[in-house]
Amino acid sequence: PEPSPTNLNSLLHSVFALLPVSSEAHPYHLALDLGPDLPLVLADSIKLQECLLNLVINAVEAGPGPGLEEVEVTVSTTLQDGSVEVAVHDRGPGISPGLREQIFQPLFTTKSGGTGIGLPICQSILEEQNGHLWLEANDPGPGVTFRLRLPALPA
Ligand code: ADP
Ligand code: MG
Repeated sequence: PEPSPTNLNSLLHSVFALLPVSSEAHPYHLALDLGPDLPLVLADSIKLQECLLNLVINAVEAGPGPGLEEVEVTVSTTLQDGSVEVAVHDRGPGISPGLREQIFQPLFTTKSGGTGIGLPICQSILEEQNGHLWLEANDPGPGVTFRLRLPALPA
């Protein structure tokens, strides 16, 4: 489909609706911290939704970090340098420096039953739409933050 003007905050609400509910067996806590009155972006919302869903599921699958009982994921949106930025932050075990390059390679996975295609697909979806996806380099931790940006449309 053709890219069309898309509200990332609304898209995130639909991503959250697609997630399995937090259960006793797999408890997690998700927080949405959505910036008010953000501009629209030009995007293929189906593809972008797939990408956001993958990032959030990865964050949940990372599990709780050391000393934490529950998985905690925060998704925030902000306006940064003329782009809308989505940050997916978890408080999981993090990603060791040696793996930071590899996670974007097709078929790289550390999960039994993982496919390793989520992040590379997500990255090409963003690049296709003049955006960018990256892993925050100087995250104080615990956990990691993935960020994506798409150029904002004129209001
Ligand atoms: P998959 O989820 O099938 O393993 P992905 O491409 O989505 O494939 O992710 C690749 C790898 O990147 C994962 O197997 C995991 O090692 C690492 N990874 C991705 N997101 C996180 C995260 N939030 N915390 C820790 N590791 C992560
Ligand atoms: Mg994945």
